Amino acid sequence: MKTAFITGSSRGIGRAVALRLAGEGYKVIIHGVRESEKLHELKKIIEEKGGVAEIIAGDLCNLDETAALAKKVSEVDILILNASIQYRIPWQELTTKDCFEQLNCNYISSLLLIQGVVPYMKKQGWGRIITVGSVQEAKPHPDMLVYSSSKAAQTNMMHSLSLQLAKDNITVNNVAPGVIYTDRNIEALSDEEYAKKVAASIPVGFYGNPEDCTGIFSYLCSEESRYVTGQSIYVDGGKSIQ
Ligand code: NAP
Repeated sequence: MKTAFITGSSRGIGRAVALRLAGEGYKVIIHGVRESEKLHELKKIIEEKGGVAEIIAGDLCNLDETAALAKKVSEVDILILNASIQYRIPWQELTTKDCFEQLNCNYISSLLLIQGVVPYMKKQGWGRIITVGSVQEAKPHPDMLVYSSSKAAQTNMMHSLSLQLAKDNITVNNVAPGVIYTDRNIEALSDEEYAKKVAASIPVGFYGNPEDCTGIFSYLCSEESRYVTGQSIYVDGGKSIQ
């Protein structure tokens, strides 16, 4: 049974991916900032369906916690770097604290976790690493400058590592969601006028839900995707190319 560690899987896209992969027979390590009721509920749901799940927690803004986490989860076949934080602040007002928190969680923690898992993947002769980016890599929001830059930096790292790890049978790809209805934007989208404006800005005319993202993760984790590496795949209703 292959093991997948999915950061930020207590809710949103990560949770949907964990459910999908658990249903496909992977053992999933589910994760949030802290151990929570949400994580225990998810573990229970997975186990009731016959799956296998383990809970792990750690704040990826804190690089000491991340390094400790990297040691604990070093023996996984699949690493999905899904957790992120985003601050909506005009760029002139950003403090270094705002910058480092986002860079630590969205970029540096990804590097530390990849450094942690690659030796085991190399030993196994198989691995899958999936970073989670954003449509903002292509269409940066003016008030989320560090968030969009951190995602672009992570994708640049993904490109470099995909080449460096290709001979080890480890693929490295990026999935970049567009507007997906999760806790992250539930409040903003509760404003009917704003929600209409957002939907109208997406070529397919609607925003997605977490399950719209899960198929591509399933594919990228599978053997079927062995010839796909170094790619960034947008799941965004066409928004990135508009
Ligand atoms: P979400 O619903 O906001 O959930 C965030 C997840 O990340 C939770 O599991 C949360 O854990 C965890 N997390 C938050 N801060 C963390 C920290 N400091 N350390 C460790 N874990 C932390 O997320 P989402 O909307 O599904 O987004 C998932 C990914 O897709 C993110 O990388 C995001 O940038 C990307 N994305 C999302 C959208 C969208 O519209 N939703 C669009 C583009 C890209 P707790 O539950 O413990 O807080």
